[in-house]
Amino acid sequence: MQTPADLIVILGTGGTIAGTAQSASDGVGYTAAQLRVEDLLAAVPALSARRLEAHQVAQLDSKDMDFATWQRLAAAVEAQLARPEVAGVVVTHGTDTLEETAYFLHRVLAPRKPVVLTAAMRPATALAPDGPQNLFDAVQVAGTPGAAGVVLAFAGRVHDAVQVRKAHSYRVDAFESADGALVARVEEGAVRVVGRWPVGEALGTARIARPAPQWPRVEIVSNHAGADGAVVQALRAVGVDGFIAAGTGNGTLSQGLDAALRDAQSAGIPVWRSTRCDAGPVMDLPGLLPSAGALSPVKARIELILALLAEPAA
Ligand code: ASP
Repeated sequence: MQTPADLIVILGTGGTIAGTAQSASDGVGYTAAQLRVEDLLAAVPALSARRLEAHQVAQLDSKDMDFATWQRLAAAVEAQLARPEVAGVVVTHGTDTLEETAYFLHRVLAPRKPVVLTAAMRPATALAPDGPQNLFDAVQVAGTPGAAGVVLAFAGRVHDAVQVRKAHSYRVDAFESADGALVARVEEGAVRVVGRWPVGEALGTARIARPAPQWPRVEIVSNHAGADGAVVQALRAVGVDGFIAAGTGNGTLSQGLDAALRDAQSAGIPVWRSTRCDAGPVMDLPGLLPSAGALSPVKARIELILALLAEPAA
């Protein structure tokens, strides 16, 4: 008889959810990534009835997320999903680069089983930590029949990896989905699906096999009053493989920045235009630098890095 796939694997990577402070009333002066993933689970007795397994993949403040950790995490998630007894994977993470890791895993793995990222805005030692509830919710989402793809369970909402952005620096409900698109809500442990689970074509982990120090360097440059393109020249002097322009409005660029980026493009460096606006696409127009579509600058950067990784290393 076949065993039902009911095991949820929790992979810890650090973040504020695993952070501790000297005092319970200190919500900002804490150190992220102090507790192990087993400690996070111990704080949620309501999960004791579930079949869970925990592994520590990394222990960092996600502001310091790096390519090598992404490689390790993608390999760990892929290996866990391949186990027939695993229903889904939960990844505990910091909030700062959560949307980047989510998009990266989405593009590389596009999993058929759920991969649910979660995090917290308050450290584990806070008067009212939000991590235990978010972790509880994430496990419910990972165990939901029919769930698939990379999502983020946070503050009672389930966002898809493509749409989600950190939209607030302090509020407990810190994430928003562009255009209001939401996958589900979690209410008292019940997952109410209101949208679609994100699926797609996986690029595969072979795409990201190149040693991390040799990954392409793609930099984001933003348009703003007085932007003159000098930063583009400076980055080219260091050596850069691609640029994402975080333009104003519909990806507009000052004359100086546009000229500097066109010059880079003529020299063979790919340049994509995105917008520094919180939501909305950048429309492609004839004669302008190519648009990154509806991707935010940080997600467009990941997309360009993954595109460049398909080319032979320089
Ligand atoms: N700096 C922390 C991190 O991203 C913030 C958080 O988790 O909320 O790891």
